[in-house]
Amino acid sequence: MFTFKTYIIFLLASLAVSIGLQMILPFPFGLGAALVIFIAFPLLLRRRYASRMRGYGGTGFGGGGFLGLGQGGSLKFVCLVCSHRFKGGECPRCGSKMKRADF
Ligand SMILES: [Zn+2]
Repeated sequence: MFTFKTYIIFLLASLAVSIGLQMILPFPFGLGAALVIFIAFPLLLRRRYASRMRGYGGTGFGGGGFLGLGQGGSLKFVCLVCSHRFKGGECPRCGSKMKRADF
């Protein structure tokens, strides 16, 4: 589970590792390695979180997941002619293809 607590633990862990690297490596390399860790850790966490979101039903392309819902057929429409709510291509009540997405 990706929580704020997890993030803090990872942040503290990466801080500890980067401090250790400062001691082991000479100045420019230690600082560089520490920066890499600080950048890489949140990215890794975000990637894990994103892959979990993909399992939930998204397409994994951020905003693309929303558009993917429409293609999946789970998006509802409202008929512009008779205001009947339906799924799919055309209104089952009056057969009109005039519709808008219902959120
Ligand atoms: Zn209709």
